[in-house]
Amino acid sequence: MTVVTSTTNGTSAPAGPATPAPGPAPSKYSFGTLAIHAGQQPDPHTGAVIPALSLSTTYKQSAVGVHNGFEYSRSGNPNRADFETAIAALEHAKYALAFSSGSATTSSVISMLPGGSHVVSVNDVYGGTYRYFTKVAPASGVKATFVDLLDAENLRNVMQENTRMVWIETPTNPTLRLVDIRAVADIAHEYGALLVVDNTFLSPYFQNPLDLGADLVVHSCTKYINGHSDVVLGVAAMNDTQVYDKLKFLQNAIGAVPAPFDCFMAHRGLKTLHLRMRQHEENALAVAALLEASPLVENVIYPGLPSHPQYELAQRQQRGFGGMVTFRIRGDLQTADRFLQSVQLFTLAESLGGVESLCELPVLMTHGSVSPEDRAVLGITDNLIRLSVGVEDTQDLLQDVSQALERAVQVTDTPAA
Ligand SMILES: *Cc1c(COP(=O)(O)O)cnc(C)c1O
Repeated sequence: MTVVTSTTNGTSAPAGPATPAPGPAPSKYSFGTLAIHAGQQPDPHTGAVIPALSLSTTYKQSAVGVHNGFEYSRSGNPNRADFETAIAALEHAKYALAFSSGSATTSSVISMLPGGSHVVSVNDVYGGTYRYFTKVAPASGVKATFVDLLDAENLRNVMQENTRMVWIETPTNPTLRLVDIRAVADIAHEYGALLVVDNTFLSPYFQNPLDLGADLVVHSCTKYINGHSDVVLGVAAMNDTQVYDKLKFLQNAIGAVPAPFDCFMAHRGLKTLHLRMRQHEENALAVAALLEASPLVENVIYPGLPSHPQYELAQRQQRGFGGMVTFRIRGDLQTADRFLQSVQLFTLAESLGGVESLCELPVLMTHGSVSPEDRAVLGITDNLIRLSVGVEDTQDLLQDVSQALERAVQVTDTPAA
């Protein structure tokens, strides 16, 4: 039987005998095959096709320091190691490390930096990451500067002697602006800084930042990777052994590790990532096209539309365009609110990346804590609506969006009380 592994991963130099025999190189297989087989070998003792949930907190040693690769579940757990192996294979990484949330991943990655370090972050970074950079990291002497990276060259203006890390997302949230990963990686490296890319929005199915020069790729697996809106989890993947050793040390030392059950669930979700992403994209393209053709819509932002200002970059650095669509409804906050109350299939809720379609109003929801000035800079207007297009049947989604648009604008505006 063939075994698909990425690398020995998640265990610290096991002294015991049960190190899995290295399988064929993962590059032999394509994405869907790896998603299903990497890190997922039948249990050698019972033959169970799906490895059992390993809830034990501690593992037997046959002599002091002699074990099967696991000692204590915070340091290493079989379900976590399997999930990490699968992520490493899909992100074209040598290593991956899982954490208890996307935010715990951010916190642990930033903890790699010595006090007095400077970080540069893209200006429309995820709200929780912004909060971490501005309200938590300064306590350990790490300062962040935020910069618009529509033009990668802007990075040069803010790099300092002590800049150790550059942190980007692409596409950004909620206005789906792209950052040129290769260009930013080259500049960051010129200054001796590591580039971290939060790849949550596209998932490894559509984008592999490590192939474009990034040093670390991070995910909130809470979104597309788990894909079913029922697990909070995060992961980081990398190729450099020193970076891995440092973060592996912090994973254990800080201890923000995921539960075995959450790893099991996220790994199960991961096995259909390729199928889900294809349908997310097909639906998102259809919804974006419908919105763009509607006179009730001011404009649509979707990297898969030729009208997106960075359509060319999207085609160059991504293999697809993802499931997030943002648009401005013709009208004001009340019009947008009526749209969000009129949808029947889309659920009004924060978060994204699950099989079910969601919609939200960034100005009052996900980006409510961003200052009005910053919102103006980022284009987060009162009529901006963000859709996480799910994998339901396309026609049903199109019908729902059409009827909600009509209801939203049909009502005659009443003067604000
Ligand atoms: C949700 C999200 C995070 C944070 O992840 P959690 O799992 O909620 O802690 C980080 N980055 C992006 C882009 C996200 O969407």
